[in-house]
Amino acid sequence: MQKIVVIGEILVEIMADFPGEGFSEPMALTGPFPSGAPAIFADQAARLGQPVAIVSGVGVDDFGRLNTARLARDGVDISAVWVDPDRPTGTAFVRYRPDGGRVFVFNIRHSACGRIAVSDAVRAVLDGATHIHVMGSSLSSAEFIALNLDTAEAIRARGGTVSFDPNLRPEILDAPGMRAAMGRILALTDLFLPSGEELTLLTRSRDATGAIKELLAGGIRAIVHKRGAAGASYHDATGSLRAAPFAVREVDPTGAGDCFGATFTALWLRGTPPQEALDLAAAAGALAVTRRGPMEGVSDLPTLRAMLAQPRKEL
Ligand code: ATP
Ligand code: MG
Repeated sequence: MQKIVVIGEILVEIMADFPGEGFSEPMALTGPFPSGAPAIFADQAARLGQPVAIVSGVGVDDFGRLNTARLARDGVDISAVWVDPDRPTGTAFVRYRPDGGRVFVFNIRHSACGRIAVSDAVRAVLDGATHIHVMGSSLSSAEFIALNLDTAEAIRARGGTVSFDPNLRPEILDAPGMRAAMGRILALTDLFLPSGEELTLLTRSRDATGAIKELLAGGIRAIVHKRGAAGASYHDATGSLRAAPFAVREVDPTGAGDCFGATFTALWLRGTPPQEALDLAAAAGALAVTRRGPMEGVSDLPTLRAMLAQPRKEL
């Protein structure tokens, strides 16, 4: 079986109990929940039985232990997760806006996962991977950009594959070098997993049809476009497919894209037909939003298959 590696942030997420515009007053919060886009991705992939490792760091604190215990329990290889004696585990505070948008306060760059120690354990994981999944949210420092790029290049050079989710957060888009790094990753990408307007973010074309053509012409083999409560679509050189959204009650949308992406990527690596992979990924995304906490809604394959019988919304 293919072995996936993800390089990036492990965080805890602490969420406001009630919607509002930000954090400028005391409020009720719930957490810590295990989080970080690469960690959610890895946890969901592991739940599907896919070999997957995360390269990241945590502090000597309960936030770190909460994460490593969860990842290990679900089958993620955490041998390349270092424990930083000087820095705390990363955090993300999130508050939903009344319009459904999100406000974040991040501590990533100055946390344990904000710098990299390429130890023998990290090297062993990187050298053993046959696929890398790159998260745009993880390209927030020069070190992380370089390690993701170098690993993607090395994996491609030995016949492996690359998937890429731009996973943009306006709060981190303007990090130095981030846009240029995204362009370089895109040039190495086999499977591209943008959400909403991310589809046209890195293309010259401003419209969806033009962007899809341009991306496929540029060497991307498959594009999966996530569209939240509107479902998802798949595009490759032979045509397009759609997955209607499942009818679920959305409790917490954070993590849906990562669960969706992990499911599609794991199935794509196994050669599952794209329509089946798309439907099961849409089931994973839909189940993810029904649970509070970004990593609480991960699913195993029997659960996803059972979900396929559930009602879908009209397209
Ligand atoms: P994230 O916040 O994790 O970055 P994202 O923007 O990358 O999310 P979304 O498009 O929100 O990803 O969600 C991924 C997929 O999950 C969607 O394409 C859809 O199939 C499914 N999904 C998400 N929200 C819902 C919902 N409310 N109802 C049904 N399905 C949903
Ligand atoms: Mg996303």
